[in-house]
Amino acid sequence: MTDPHVAETTDASLAVSVGQNLSALRARVAAAAQAAGRDPATITLIGVSKVHGAERIRPAIDAGLVDFGENRVQEAGQKWPALRQSAPGLRLHLVGPLQTNKLREALGLFDVIHSVDREKLARKLAEMRDTEGTCPELFLQVNTGEEPQKAGVPPGHVDAFVALCRDTLGLPVRGLMCLPPADEEPALHFALLAKIAARNGVSDLSMGMTGDFETAIAFGATHIRVGTALFGVRPKPVTKAPAP
Ligand SMILES: *Cc1c(COP(=O)(O)O)cnc(C)c1O
Repeated sequence: MTDPHVAETTDASLAVSVGQNLSALRARVAAAAQAAGRDPATITLIGVSKVHGAERIRPAIDAGLVDFGENRVQEAGQKWPALRQSAPGLRLHLVGPLQTNKLREALGLFDVIHSVDREKLARKLAEMRDTEGTCPELFLQVNTGEEPQKAGVPPGHVDAFVALCRDTLGLPVRGLMCLPPADEEPALHFALLAKIAARNGVSDLSMGMTGDFETAIAFGATHIRVGTALFGVRPKPVTKAPAP
């Protein structure tokens, strides 16, 4: 992977900086939890390692991070089988969109899927659960901002979608996930997601990224997805990548 930021950085100093970032991040998570009157152990920190290579991921594994997130099935398939072999017990989370034609590959890679957002995908997951006998834990993605370009079920359809996935299909629905609009106050979206989850009896909330995870924790996040604050700024792709 070509990364101009890494060119003059040794693996050793990179490992130190990722390790320091992780310590700082854990301290911030603990402080935010304490401020919200919550036990920090109820918050899972997911290191979103998309775009980054093993030279940044391995130090995080070595520093004890267990949960990692990727947003593309294909990229995860290239990076993670080797990383996992050397570190059993990791949990890999898919935080990006999932096409049904990538589902089989995704099931072989991911322990948790955060982007279940339509009936067709839910039905395919149930079919595979029936034939394979296993299913990853699932978060249903909610498009809290009702943005046309963004994945997720609109807030008004979530109750029916939870009922379909959890009650009709018997899928392991662990929680709800959202990705608030970039230009709006995230707290409003976190509060909305928490309210929808509570009225549906869904326990977990995947919400909060580098810029807003402390706010998300205040609103009950159980899974925060942090990339930049852990691994550094992602290099910008030269051309816009095609859809996964
Ligand atoms: C990239 C990504 C993140 C991490 O974003 P940062 O701002 O770098 O922390 C979180 N969630 C999703 C769905 C992402 O695609």
